[in-house]
Amino acid sequence: MTLFTRDVTVCVLSSGSAGNATYIGDGHAGVLVDCGVSTKQILARLDAAGLASAPIDGVLLTHEHNDHVAGAAVLARALAKRNRPVPFFCTRGTLDAINPRCLPDGIEIVEAGKSFRVKHLIVEPIPVPHDVRDPVAYRVIAGDVPVAVITDLGRPTALVSRALRDCRVAVLEFNHDEDMLWNGPYSPHLKQRIRGNHGHLSNRQAAQLLEDGLGSRLDHLILAHLSEENNTPACALAAARAVLDRAGVLSRVHLQAALQHAALPPITVQTRVW
Ligand SMILES: [Zn+2]
Ligand SMILES: [Zn+2]
Repeated sequence: MTLFTRDVTVCVLSSGSAGNATYIGDGHAGVLVDCGVSTKQILARLDAAGLASAPIDGVLLTHEHNDHVAGAAVLARALAKRNRPVPFFCTRGTLDAINPRCLPDGIEIVEAGKSFRVKHLIVEPIPVPHDVRDPVAYRVIAGDVPVAVITDLGRPTALVSRALRDCRVAVLEFNHDEDMLWNGPYSPHLKQRIRGNHGHLSNRQAAQLLEDGLGSRLDHLILAHLSEENNTPACALAAARAVLDRAGVLSRVHLQAALQHAALPPITVQTRVW
């Protein structure tokens, strides 16, 4: 029996190689996934999205690259001053490798495959192939609403496609167009890194992952971590749209591409609470 419903809000505040941050909350508990832009930006974009007083009870760090952790130390101090100290979560490998200047107080170690709670939210760290020691993506489950934030992986994996399958909201990396990367201005070394098994998902690979992981509950798909040099929103959206079209869900799934320099309007889905 459903006792009441609650709105789950997802807001991609910033997405791309210049910084990543996503807010997920249900009005009673909330988390940020990554804080790779300044605290000033994070708070300003939450404010602009109408989420200035939305609860932040934890910050989930995916890995130590600057575009995911740059704001961590300052954000920890700002959140402590705003209300109370908030735990930051990351793997042991990320903690060992993080730039000490970004290191916040109050780190809690998580392990890929072992879920934990932030208040009543269930958080599942999912291992991803990326060129650092111990990177993860996250699923955050509020009531009966799973939300996945999956970026910074070099290839699709079975674990990640399984993590997508029952999601209502998915934030999924569509990093580059393979031809644009190949013909673009990057050095051969950097091209190789991005294309490699531990780099970033191309539009083609992300479309494959989406095809494998697409489930019947998906309401919102947000394309994330688009390269400003080697991709365009139009290319990424076309790749995702083709998958949704083939699956016959194009009219049902709300599709958009995340932005680097502004927050997307917040998405709201309803959860049932028993
Ligand atoms: Zn990144
Ligand atoms: Zn990275």
